[in-house]
Amino acid sequence: MSYPYEAPVSQELFDRAAAVTPGGVNSPVRAFGAVGGTPRFMVSGAGAYLTDADGREYVDLVCSWGPMILGHAHPEVVDAVRSAVARGTSFGTPSAGEVELAEAMVARVEPLEQVRLVSSGTEATMSAIRLARGFTGRPKVVKFAGCYHGHVDALLASAGSGVATFGLPDTPGVTGAAAGETIVLPYNDIEAVRAAFAANEGQIACVITEASPGNMGMVPPQDGFNARLRDLCRQNGALYISDEVMTGFRVTPAGWYGIDGVAPDLMTFGKVMGGGFPAAAFGGRADVMAALAPAGPVYQAGTLSGNPVATAAGLTQLRLLDAAAYARLDAVSGRLQDLVSEALTKEGVAHRVQSGGNMFSVFFTADEVRDYEGAKRQEAFRYTAFFHAMLARGVYLPPSAFECWFVSTALDDQAVQRIADALPAAARAAAEATA
Ligand SMILES: *Cc1c(COP(=O)(O)O)cnc(C)c1O
Repeated sequence: MSYPYEAPVSQELFDRAAAVTPGGVNSPVRAFGAVGGTPRFMVSGAGAYLTDADGREYVDLVCSWGPMILGHAHPEVVDAVRSAVARGTSFGTPSAGEVELAEAMVARVEPLEQVRLVSSGTEATMSAIRLARGFTGRPKVVKFAGCYHGHVDALLASAGSGVATFGLPDTPGVTGAAAGETIVLPYNDIEAVRAAFAANEGQIACVITEASPGNMGMVPPQDGFNARLRDLCRQNGALYISDEVMTGFRVTPAGWYGIDGVAPDLMTFGKVMGGGFPAAAFGGRADVMAALAPAGPVYQAGTLSGNPVATAAGLTQLRLLDAAAYARLDAVSGRLQDLVSEALTKEGVAHRVQSGGNMFSVFFTADEVRDYEGAKRQEAFRYTAFFHAMLARGVYLPPSAFECWFVSTALDDQAVQRIADALPAAARAAAEATA
């Protein structure tokens, strides 16, 4: 297809960026590699809207991949950040904001007895599996194909997100030694987990899973899957790690745990808890966390961990996420799912809208998607046409058919109307698209 290149300033920035940065971006999916065309360089955000360098405004359904759950530049978050910055931006000592953020998290998520703050979701999962290995004295890690846990060497095998978007095979630079201790299983397949435990007796330190996978598009766990995973871990002396970097504090005040009530041994967080700043965390059972330095022998550290500006933003965002906010997120998500499905149905486009809490994605296939293989069977070329038609009409969707759509509390009637107005033409573009 031909892409509407209506973004000369973004294109110029992208050209300059490509000269000094590999592929012109600092995180691969941003480059529009899967959908083609010029990635939009954003200059500002306010509420539900982003404005790009060419002065065009978009309703934002990416929300920085989740963190901007209250919309952009929320006045109370901005105020908290402004006063934190004025008090100094990093101390390299403990500070009260870290305690308050940890307390707020522990208060919301019952299985979370202790947390350690870090700066990215990648750091959180990397540290959690190190801790699981240190605590159990076992080497192996089980993960599921299509789940993304950040770019941790041991967890990149068959990962979702950008790895799915670009169809990358096993990533060069990850040694056989690092990947060899990782067992990759098909998602939603409990028999495969049982077989892996049987074949690796006493070897498996942990099973890590996205609480409800959103990095291959939205592929929620089948009924009882997480509970059976936890039971198998318990029976086999392995830790159950629930990666809630995406779902945490987004789908309920207690994240996905608030939906399925399956208590993990360890959990990982990021995105929403940072309020748009680099803050993330891992935590869980106090007896496991006690193995972490300086309380215990498993080393982990960070110069900017618990940064006072990031904790102020995150804490303010968590406080603003009350019951009314979650009700609003659920309502607007449901409304958008209906609108998308109506538009595609009208044009006769085979699709599945799959949701997990207020997160959802649209698969261009007639079949329910239960795992990564199923996700890859969709007609992703239809998403490309759909995406560009929405972009041209001022709606910013994830530039990949393998990513979730993220709603914010800032999506008001006017923003929803803009999306509704754009959908018929996008659905037609999807119908007419050819591989
Ligand atoms: C985004 C994400 C990560 C990685 O977080 P970063 O902050 O990008 O390093 C890990 N796990 C899941 C489930 C994610 O969605």
